[in-house]
Amino acid sequence: MFPVIHLYNVSMKTSPTVAIWWIRRDLRLADNQALQQALSSAEQVLPLFILDPVLLKSERTSTRRVDFMLAGLRALDADLQRKGSRLILRHGEPLKVLTELKQEMDFQAIFAEEDFSAYARQRDDSVAALFDLHLCGGLTVLPPSLTVKADGSPYTIFTPYSKTWRENYQQPQLLPEPGKIASPTEVFSEALPEPPIDLNTPFAMAGAPEAQRRLERFFAARIQNYASDRDRMDLEGTSSLSPYLRFGMLSARQMVNAAISGISEAGSQQNAHGAKVWLNELIWREFFYSVLFHFPQVQKDSFRPELRNIHWLNREEDFSAWKEGRTGYPIVDAAMRQLRSTGWMHNRARMIVASFLTKDLLIDWRWGEKYFMQQLLDGDVAANNGGWQWSAGTGTDAAPYFRIFNPVLQGQKFDPNGEYIRRWVPELRLLPVPLVHQPWTSPAELARMGVSYFDPIVDHALARGRCLLAYKGE
Ligand code: FAD
Repeated sequence: MFPVIHLYNVSMKTSPTVAIWWIRRDLRLADNQALQQALSSAEQVLPLFILDPVLLKSERTSTRRVDFMLAGLRALDADLQRKGSRLILRHGEPLKVLTELKQEMDFQAIFAEEDFSAYARQRDDSVAALFDLHLCGGLTVLPPSLTVKADGSPYTIFTPYSKTWRENYQQPQLLPEPGKIASPTEVFSEALPEPPIDLNTPFAMAGAPEAQRRLERFFAARIQNYASDRDRMDLEGTSSLSPYLRFGMLSARQMVNAAISGISEAGSQQNAHGAKVWLNELIWREFFYSVLFHFPQVQKDSFRPELRNIHWLNREEDFSAWKEGRTGYPIVDAAMRQLRSTGWMHNRARMIVASFLTKDLLIDWRWGEKYFMQQLLDGDVAANNGGWQWSAGTGTDAAPYFRIFNPVLQGQKFDPNGEYIRRWVPELRLLPVPLVHQPWTSPAELARMGVSYFDPIVDHALARGRCLLAYKGE
């Protein structure tokens, strides 16, 4: 018997291949390695964002940061629609969402930008166990595993790390925005929540186009004075790009490329110097990702074992005063009020308040780190942990613990006319320099001006001695 062969006179229709572009911290179309790889692997690409309840409801979440991200997703959706596609939004545990999606439609692979926090690694491992997940570069310029010592061990000091990073760096060709993005059409998307616009913050606009505008403005107006102004809290001397970089509205490569072009095409030595110093800051960011990647335990504990058992005082009332900006030290209070009001704080101010919390108040750096995550628009595990452990003196490449910031001297040096203080602590707006930096020194003058202010919560000189003993384990 021969098998029966049925011949039908119809054209054979095969479904197009589909890849998921799983968007996480890469809210942009330009220079997006995950998106480009998805596009080159399949005929159709589904841009998917999953609102993960673990991240939305964590005790380290900031509502304002979520709102900024939602505004960024709206901007991304608008960009996608211009390319003939749209954003698909789903809410739920990522593995469950992807499993349900697979039952609704066939897709062959998932492309996503690799992330390095403990949660991200565990989440991606569980997805990779069931799906063909491709993790792509982009969160950092160079993969954290690349910049290591000759013997393969990781760097723990910034300067040699940055030297090897520069040797490894080769200027990449940035990926342009794709032309058209063909996507499956019949896929359900939840409605994208409309976040409130917080006009109190200088970050009312989110999205890649706004990030590009800011990058251009920074290079046009501020780069020439960046080296001298970046530490001045009273000036707008830095780029304020960190919330945009946090959500990948701009890629790290785009920023580094801008810095490198800024150096090579600078019209003046001053511009070139500014761009070099700015590049160095971007390498600090890469360094902290490398620390997080190689030493994941820093998310929970001090990097330095000898500083894991400090007898912190952890007084709740001191912590509240610090958070609410009523420590009596105007520069600390100004910074904490800036954070509460806008969701952002100047880098110098971050160092001052972190030093004050850990060294003057002897409060565990993890309390401050968590509070920053609850407030910051740019809250980022690697940079925040790195910044806190550096300031507390417990980290890899840390300020030695005996170097304790004097909050008055810091204010006098980096807010010389007291303008930053007056902006955020309006009760002190009438006080002249030098009183504005230490109002407690002249009660009579304050009374004459009708100004009342909090007494300093600690005496810095005494607190300094107390800190040195605590850090020595005494
Ligand atoms: P610019 O001066 O314009 O620098 C450009 C970019 O370089 C920044 O956007 C940022 O991505 C990176 N960068 C600059 N300085 C640093 C630095 N010291 N460490 C790492 N990256 C840096 N940065 C965050 O992005 N998220 C955080 O959660 C965070 N927490 C911090 C906590 C503490 C205690 C400290 C001391 C620093 C923290 N930083 C954090 C680093 C730094 O304060 C901010 O990146 C910077 O203030 C952002 O402002 P900008 O964009 O104007 O910076």
